[in-house]
Amino acid sequence: MVPAKVSTFLWQLQLDRVATKAGLLSRGFSLPDEGVCGLCVAELESSSHLFLYCKVIWQMWCEVIKREGNCWVMPQSVKDLLLLWPELKVKSDGVLWDMTPFALCWSVWVKRNDMVFNDKGFSAEAVWDMHIARITGWVKAWWHHCPYSASQFVMGIQHISMPKNKKGKSIADGDLAWFIGMVDDSSIWRI
Ligand SMILES: [Zn+2]
Repeated sequence: MVPAKVSTFLWQLQLDRVATKAGLLSRGFSLPDEGVCGLCVAELESSSHLFLYCKVIWQMWCEVIKREGNCWVMPQSVKDLLLLWPELKVKSDGVLWDMTPFALCWSVWVKRNDMVFNDKGFSAEAVWDMHIARITGWVKAWWHHCPYSASQFVMGIQHISMPKNKKGKSIADGDLAWFIGMVDDSSIWRI
């Protein structure tokens, strides 16, 4: 249900192969800002910092865990997060729960790239809204008669029940275009 492009991104991220500033520095690039995270302007932008520990990102993960009725200690890396993720589920449908780190990490990356390459401001609210829109779009592209409205997804995925034993088609990137417009523009993906 998660587009291949996003699955690939998460796979690269858990291997720490996404081109964060720390990653570029380690490959010998010099950066005018010395690799500082543009969100907090305080720490080196490593993958674990950008996707887990940066203050605004950390708050979003905590919101997800709190909504689920659980508590946790933040794992040290995205790889550890993905390993731990199934154990953190309390209320949500497993399919939707599994989608959440994909949607959230991808939305962080898209908005971070918008900030770095397009001089746009970074808004945690926009990342939050985008990750819910993605989950909604992925579900609705797969489940054509989904009875839940977009606003019901916004109210919390823990209230959404996915159909059981439904044979779904896999989603091609183009299927999502109607919902998420140009935000997943391939020029971002090529960096
Ligand atoms: Zn930061």
